[in-house]
Amino acid sequence: TARGRDRLRIAIQKNGRLGEPARALLASAGLAWCESRDKLFCHGESLPVDLLLVRDDDIPGLIADGVCDLGIVGRNVLLEQAGEREEARRPASSREWRALGFGGCRLSLAVPEAWDWQGTAQLAGKRIATTYPNQLRAWLRAQDVQADVVVLSGSVEIAPRLGQADLICDLVSSGATLAANQLKPVVDILYSEAVLAGPVQPIGDARAELADLLLRRIDGVLRIRDSKLLLFHTARDALERVMQLLPDAEPPTMCVVDGSETLALQALCHGAMTWQRLEDLKRAGARGLMVLPVERMLA
Ligand code: ATP
Ligand code: MG
Repeated sequence: TARGRDRLRIAIQKNGRLGEPARALLASAGLAWCESRDKLFCHGESLPVDLLLVRDDDIPGLIADGVCDLGIVGRNVLLEQAGEREEARRPASSREWRALGFGGCRLSLAVPEAWDWQGTAQLAGKRIATTYPNQLRAWLRAQDVQADVVVLSGSVEIAPRLGQADLICDLVSSGATLAANQLKPVVDILYSEAVLAGPVQPIGDARAELADLLLRRIDGVLRIRDSKLLLFHTARDALERVMQLLPDAEPPTMCVVDGSETLALQALCHGAMTWQRLEDLKRAGARGLMVLPVERMLA
């Protein structure tokens, strides 16, 4: 049980779409394990933080039971389990601590391509196949539409062709799977991505400090994900024009070059630094532009 444990335990997906990026994120936060890929458990070596490799559906439950302290899982999975607990009148046990910016997808309603979609009223009396019944029912209630929810455990996209349902509610990213099944997305009911999930109640004892340390490191990693350090010179009177092109920059560090009218600047920029942007900056008066990668940041 959680009581008396002094190592932090994080559940991540063993395989699947989120396993690899979750591991990469934790590695860039400074965690290292003795790799035991096919096993269930990875013992942390750099910090007392261990990994449990599981099916994504099990992650909210592992946090709820205190078997794991944190987890990396799709928001869709986390909310589905929250809806399930709500339905059963049990208190919420886990919540989203951070959105992690990968594993992006939508939970969408998709109808046969031949349908002439006119709006949600059209759903009345229809059968909708899904593996996310709680979110679908909550959405239908909010829309005040009565429809039949057909709960499936997988292969939702073929349900309309098999006659099990009229339409589906499923995860979509590119839409290729839908198109291959002659379906088209018509309404998004949730925007999802991978999230760091943790308990609703604060973590007790020594693990709270570890969780906090990890959280601050993850924040550092997320903050600089697309960030670059931009170095350049500019004439004092061109400064304003140049800075207008850098709305995504932190307040820059500036110094005067040789007591002249030239300034040397360094600015941390959070948006993508494309060639096009560099050319625009040059036209505005920046010189000697240099883009440097940012490896770590601790606020
Ligand atoms: P497991 O074996 O762990 O149960 P799974 O098959 O349930 O795996 P994956 O298909 O690996 O799960 O998806 C994991 C998560 O990736 C989803 O819950 C969702 O948050 C996210 N995701 C991103 N894009 C998509 C997509 N196009 N289809 C399904 N999931 C997606
Ligand atoms: Mg799963």
